[in-house]
Amino acid sequence: MDLFEYQGKQYFARFGIPVSPGGVADTVDEAVAQADRLGFPVVVKAQVQVGGRGKAGGIKLAQSADEVRTHASNILGMDIRGHTVHRVWIERASDIAREFYASFTLDRGARKHLGMVSARGGVDIEQVAAEEPQAIARLHIDPVDGLDEAGARRLVEQAGLDEAARAGATDILLKLYRCFVEGDADLVEINPLILTPDGRVHALDAKVSLDNNAEFRHPEWAEYKATEELDEREQLARSKGLQYIGLSGSVGIIANGAGLAMSTLDVVNQVGGSPANFLDIGGGADAEVMANALEVINTDHNVRSILINIFGGITRGEEVANGIVQALGRVQITSPIVVRIDGTNAEQGRAILAEHASEQLLSQPTMLDAARKAVELAKAAGVEARA
Ligand code: GDP
Ligand code: MN
Repeated sequence: MDLFEYQGKQYFARFGIPVSPGGVADTVDEAVAQADRLGFPVVVKAQVQVGGRGKAGGIKLAQSADEVRTHASNILGMDIRGHTVHRVWIERASDIAREFYASFTLDRGARKHLGMVSARGGVDIEQVAAEEPQAIARLHIDPVDGLDEAGARRLVEQAGLDEAARAGATDILLKLYRCFVEGDADLVEINPLILTPDGRVHALDAKVSLDNNAEFRHPEWAEYKATEELDEREQLARSKGLQYIGLSGSVGIIANGAGLAMSTLDVVNQVGGSPANFLDIGGGADAEVMANALEVINTDHNVRSILINIFGGITRGEEVANGIVQALGRVQITSPIVVRIDGTNAEQGRAILAEHASEQLLSQPTMLDAARKAVELAKAAGVEARA
């Protein structure tokens, strides 16, 4: 779960990371009231979960209540790269001498935490990584050992931060690492981390992505859940209790079990297709669950074909097949469906599907055949849709 900047800064503050005083507002009047409370000048910042807000006009300096009024009314409701601004964060403006970058994330390949620091902050870090990779100091951290002061100081020195910023940045890195580990985040990023002309170091931006698996440890995350902005498909899926992740391809996928769902994505990619989603319907595959899953996939306008991949264990093949047939009676599906059933009572399941076979409902014996067919149909429909 990604946090908005203002939530990220509140999260940082809990771990003692210095941030500017500020307040959130979802109306122009509230924005002005927050600014009056804080004292001028202030910065009016669009709260959307996408970077580059500054360039898009979503971050403005204001010297007076009138200026706050103007900027807040322009920014609220603004569209920033597909995200509508519902809230602004008003914070006391900072004077900036230098802008740096700092982050901790997981390096799954290395099975370690990865700390990154750069003296080139305030710009897109991907761009720095591409143009000038040596400008980013990196440190792999064994999660068992954690980060000590010597490690944090080494990162700061390797990155070549100004002498005046080193002690402050080292201290912030140690706190940021605690925030990452104890705060159960997958990513914590400060860009820019600033040095002020009077020698203080603090976080001017905050990006925090929380690990949903740790939710049970954090009752306080409920307030983040309440403001979470999911896409339409993900909202519907969540309301139906399905494990769903939206992707951008054209083959809708339904599978039972997370492992099988992942393998299905791989096989679709392998045969030249692109998955529209990850959807694990879990153990049960009755008509109710199947209808819900199809309904969610149906709301995705990119979908051109649907691949249902079921391996029967406790779930029996004929139950799955009946579930699919009944679900089709309940939900009006636009795309063709390719089904692969294997495992317990697969034969009976396939026989039921054969009885109901049509251009809309096809059955294939193996996962590879089913994926090939679904991708072929998606491509054919894609061409038709464009023609
Ligand atoms: P992003 O563009 O979405 O990453 O938003 P940021 O919060 O990182 O802000 C972008 C840029 O706006 C920063 O790199 C700063 O240059 C500038 N900025 C943000 N807050 C302040 C502030 O308090 N004072 C000044 N002078 N500039 C700021
Ligand atoms: Mn930023």
